[in-house]
Amino acid sequence: MMSKTHITVGIAAALASCRPSDYAGILVSVTGGAIGGILCDIECKSTPQCRDALTGRIIVVGITGAMLLVDGFLKMGIWNWIMSREVMYIIMGTIVLLVTCIIGRRSEHRTFTHSLLYIVLIAVGFFCILPELALPVLVEGLSHLTIDTLNKKPVPWLYPLRKTGICFRLCYASKTGNYILMWLGLIASIMLIGWRIIIINSTIL
Ligand SMILES: [Zn+2]
Repeated sequence: MMSKTHITVGIAAALASCRPSDYAGILVSVTGGAIGGILCDIECKSTPQCRDALTGRIIVVGITGAMLLVDGFLKMGIWNWIMSREVMYIIMGTIVLLVTCIIGRRSEHRTFTHSLLYIVLIAVGFFCILPELALPVLVEGLSHLTIDTLNKKPVPWLYPLRKTGICFRLCYASKTGNYILMWLGLIASIMLIGWRIIIINSTIL
């Protein structure tokens, strides 16, 4: 599927799974879902004919920057979570993420980056840096593989143990099914954010 679809579906899946109980949790779930949405396609290169990969990366950088800015102004605690981590964990997480992403970037499309192993390694990397990000990233990785499995190119979930993948051949990655999922993901994300805000406000009152 296209990157915007992975981002909207990933955010909805992260919000539904993490069920954040405060505003910082909402921001982290949205950001984790968005980051996970594009990391599985890190091997995809932007071309003049198709800028989907670049567009997705710009959206995610924007969401991450917005989260850090909002937290910086409203002091929700996310910066404190990061700063209170032991430097050793942050270095370990950064190394795991860098090595995993470099190998993923150099791999063939839909091989290592579309496996459970890759998703777990990415989640472990984020867990070392900011544990609250690990679950949204993991959930989005699973949602990424799941919706890619709906289209016509096999997804090797068990790579490298099993290099052949599975797919249900229900839709093309860039046609109607993709757009339906993208809009459903966006609507679900907005509804889930609204629902979490209502719950948070009702518990404050
Ligand atoms: Zn993909």
